[in-house]
Amino acid sequence: MSSIADNLQRIQDRIATACARAGRDPAGLRLVAVSKFHPAESVVEALAAGQMLFGENRVQEAAGKFPPLRAGHPELRLHIIGALQTNKARDAVRIADVIESLDRPKLAAALAEAMQREQRRPGLLVQVNIGQEPQKAGIDPEALDDFIAECREAHGLPIEGLMCIPPAEGDPNPYFAAMAEAAARLRLGVLSMGMSGDFESAIAHGATHVRVGTAIFGAR
Ligand SMILES: *Cc1c(COP(=O)(O)O)cnc(C)c1O
Repeated sequence: MSSIADNLQRIQDRIATACARAGRDPAGLRLVAVSKFHPAESVVEALAAGQMLFGENRVQEAAGKFPPLRAGHPELRLHIIGALQTNKARDAVRIADVIESLDRPKLAAALAEAMQREQRRPGLLVQVNIGQEPQKAGIDPEALDDFIAECREAHGLPIEGLMCIPPAEGDPNPYFAAMAEAAARLRLGVLSMGMSGDFESAIAHGATHVRVGTAIFGAR
């Protein structure tokens, strides 16, 4: 079995290659190490290897793992990337640096209230249901511009970019391209897309953040 440090190095090498192929500066690409379902010990191993940016799906799980690690690692950054219930908005605002899964008006209102109460403003990404899959979270691409306007105007939310999970089957490239178009149209600088199986394609289409779990921490 290869170590987390080895895996991180391999992913960083693949990111560098993908950036070179796309003519992109690797400094414009951040690796979010997705540690969901893996123990704090695995996060500690990744930190020791220099990885400071992590993603977690569940607020509860992240709240158990990450706050104790922050004291020793002031550079640590945590992104919440999973479906967020409105009743977890306050906990999410308390522990996250970025919440990538803003996907509905009720959650926008809950996050605005939570930020007010906590006096803390994590960055926000709007999750887009780019494949228009009925079972999947995310704003429909056709409703995206209005939703972002509502987040900003009605709630004053700090929307920094977009996030997507393309359909599991088939070629992700057209979806990544559509996301890049939407981000450019909306003048949003952050584009979180690409996972263990497709991050190189996402980089080719302009991802600024790739979210990689299995290829770093192993199977869940
Ligand atoms: C689990 C998860 C990932 C990481 O997926 P891998 O295939 O393990 O790399 C990325 N993004 C989201 C939203 C996830 O839930």
